[in-house]
Amino acid sequence: MFAEALRVILDGTVFQISCQLMTTPIIQFIDVYKSYQSGSQPVTALEAVNLSLDAGDFVTIMGPSGGGKTTLLNLLAGLDLPDKGKIILNGRKVSDFSDHELTLLRRNEIGFVFQFFNLMPTLTVMENVELPLLLAHSSRTDSERIKTLLDYVGLWHRANSFPAELSGGEMQRVAIARALVHQPVILLADEPTGNLDSENGLKIIGLMRKAATDFKTTVVMVTHNPQVAAIGNRHFEIRDGKLTDQIT
Ligand code: ADP
Ligand code: MG
Repeated sequence: MFAEALRVILDGTVFQISCQLMTTPIIQFIDVYKSYQSGSQPVTALEAVNLSLDAGDFVTIMGPSGGGKTTLLNLLAGLDLPDKGKIILNGRKVSDFSDHELTLLRRNEIGFVFQFFNLMPTLTVMENVELPLLLAHSSRTDSERIKTLLDYVGLWHRANSFPAELSGGEMQRVAIARALVHQPVILLADEPTGNLDSENGLKIIGLMRKAATDFKTTVVMVTHNPQVAAIGNRHFEIRDGKLTDQIT
């Protein structure tokens, strides 16, 4: 696998970002199947899914409830493995990973943004953003990096506040800082605007889109909002476990 170091100067801090050549996809699903056992019946959640995404792609996924959106995100996040098929992530065959390897993958290469923000209520904004660094490096933190990310989402001045003191839009911006602090290769978002008014929702999407460009992070976002979905540079629909590329 060929990778070159891309240096991005942002707010005086230098980030080292691994950047794939355009010809090497950062994520590949090759004929992926996933089913769950529901009582005695197997339920197909994903069927023959093929997908190829590049570094910096901003991908939106729409589809009806039960279509397979969360299952797809869980496989991308290394939270689950396929029954059949290959998942290649950043040059490695994740579909063969052990539990331990999947844990390391999640800690080091994946960022996640949730509909309900999922901030730790007893931790300050700064401590919430610090968490992924502590998980990845046990005791080593990086105050400069935390400040840079909180500046990036415009919330450094709220570093010592608690989540309950913030608005929904602000909480989601903290969640984005937390999701990006360990420089993930992929940023996954399950309905990140589902709990926000449209103005704040658009701000959040704008921020994720900017992150995809600035950090070459591949963003994969599930949304029910067609206006939000239209902002992506790649659009997919998933229905009855089948993924289709909505070429626009
Ligand atoms: P979506 O996020 O699009 O609503 P999901 O990926 O959650 O869809 O679900 C896809 C299908 O798989 C649905 O039929 C759902 O009922 C089923 N499913 C998902 N998770 C489980 C599970 N843990 N056990 C049994 N069935 C599941
Ligand atoms: Mg879902």
